[in-house]
Amino acid sequence: MRRRIECEVCVVGGGPAGIMLGYLLARSGIDVVVLEKHGDFLRDFRGDTIHPSTLSLLGQLGLREAFLRLPHTEVRTIDFVVDGVRIHAVDFSRLPAPDDFLSTMPQWDFLDFLAGQGRALPSYRLLMSTAATGVLREGAAVAGVTAVGPEGELEIVAGLTVAADGRSSTVRAATGLRPREYGVGIDVLWFPLPSPERRPPSTIAYVEGDSFVLTIDRRDHYQAGMVIAKGGAAALEAEGIEAFRTRLARTARPFAPVVDALRSWDEVKLLAVQVSRLERWHLPGLLCIGDAAHAMSPAFGVGVNYAIQDAVATANLLTASLRAGHGAPEELLAAVQRRRLPPVRAMQALQLRLHRTIATPERKPLLADPPTALQRAGLNLTVPVIRALAPRLIGRGFRPETISEAVLGAQ
Ligand SMILES: Cc1cc2nc3c(=O)[nH]c(=O)nc-3n(C[C@H](O)[C@H](O)[C@H](O)COP(=O)(O)OP(=O)(O)OC[C@H]3O[C@@H](n4cnc5c(N)ncnc54)[C@H](O)[C@@H]3O)c2cc1C
Repeated sequence: MRRRIECEVCVVGGGPAGIMLGYLLARSGIDVVVLEKHGDFLRDFRGDTIHPSTLSLLGQLGLREAFLRLPHTEVRTIDFVVDGVRIHAVDFSRLPAPDDFLSTMPQWDFLDFLAGQGRALPSYRLLMSTAATGVLREGAAVAGVTAVGPEGELEIVAGLTVAADGRSSTVRAATGLRPREYGVGIDVLWFPLPSPERRPPSTIAYVEGDSFVLTIDRRDHYQAGMVIAKGGAAALEAEGIEAFRTRLARTARPFAPVVDALRSWDEVKLLAVQVSRLERWHLPGLLCIGDAAHAMSPAFGVGVNYAIQDAVATANLLTASLRAGHGAPEELLAAVQRRRLPPVRAMQALQLRLHRTIATPERKPLLADPPTALQRAGLNLTVPVIRALAPRLIGRGFRPETISEAVLGAQ
C-alpha cells in the first residue's frame, strides 16, 4: 500500500530550480514537499558557477553573507585564450557592487546551503532518496506524483506539481510533454587536474585548432572539460589516455606540466550536451521549470542561474494566489512561461550560435598563427564591444529577476 502525503505544492527535483523554489515557497508559509532522487547533492559535475544575478537574489533573501562564508572563488574577469591570443572577454567589475563578481563553488555545497535554509522552515519538507515515478491525475489535471522512497511507494497529492527534475524529466515524460531538440554537435569530457606550480591567470577556456578545453578553478585543483564531437568519446578512448593527455597539453598549455596526473579513463566523465525547449511549459496542475522546460548547454555557464531565475519568477507569480488559498490556476502558470520564455530563448540562441562558431570540434582555427594585422585590428574593434555587453548578458542574463515584496514580506 502506498503511503500518502498531501501538500499544496510538490516540487520534483532537488537541483538549483527545485531547491530554490521549495525554499521561496516555504518562506512564504506555503506547504511544500521537494523530492530528490539522490541521497545527497554530490553528483556529476553540472556547473559550479553562481552568477552576479544569483548573488543579488541571495542578498535580497539576507543570505549573501552566510553564503560567501562558504569556501568559494571570486572570479572578476573571464579570459579565453583563442589560438594563443588571450582575450579579456568579460569584466564583471563593470557591474554595480557588491555583486560585481562571479562566484564558483561546487554545486553540492550551494545546494546543501539552500536546502539547509529550507529545512529550518516549518512548511518545508525535503524528501531525499525519493524519486518520482509518474503523475497522479484528477480528471484532466495533474494532481501530484507517485514516487519511491527509502520506505517504499508514495503518493504525493498536491494542488500544484512542479517538474524541476532536469533535462530527462520523468514528470514531463509522464504527462506527454515533449521538448523540441536543437541539435548540438558536442559533448564534454570532465576530469580533475591539479593546479600547476605556476598558476595561470584566470582563464575559462583554451581554444586551439580543433580542440577546446574549459578550466574551472576549484581552489585546490581545477575541473577541466574537453569539448568533443557528439558521440566521439569512444574513438578518443580507443586512441588511449596518452593521446588525450597530449591533446590536452597542446591546447591548455599552462597545464602541460600536470596532465600526467590524469592516469586513466576512470577519472574522465562524459556529459552529453543538449539544448532543448518545451513549447508549452504547463498543464492544469503542472508547471515545468529549469532544464525540465529548457535544457541549457554549458556555454556561458548560465544554466544554473536561469534555473534559479525560473524559480524566482514562479514564486513571484504564484505566491499571492497560493497564500490566498486560490491554488495555481493555469493562467498563472502560463504567465510564468510568458515571463521566462523570452530570456531563455535569447540565451539558447546565443549558445547555439557559439556552438556553431567556436565550440565545434570541426572548426578551423579562427586566427592565423600568429594573427594577421587585420585579425588583430578586428579583435581590437570587437573585444571592447563584447566587454561592454558581456558582464550584463552573462552576469545578469537577459531578464534578471528580483524577488517580489509579496514573497519577501510574507515571512
Ligand atoms: C556538461 C555540462 C556543464 C554545465 N556547466 C554549467 C556551468 O558551469 N554553469 C551553469 O550555470 N550551468 C551549467 N550547465 C547547465 C546546468 O547544469 C543546468 O542548466 C542546471 O543544472 C539546471 O538546473 P535544474 O535544477 O533545472 O536541473 P538539474 O540541475 O538537472 O537538477 C534536477 C534534479 O532533479 C533530480 N531528479 C531527476 N529525476 C528525478 C525524479 N524522477 N525524482 C526526483 N528527483 C529527480 C536530479 O537528481 C537533480 O538533482 C552545464 C550543463 C552540462 C550538460
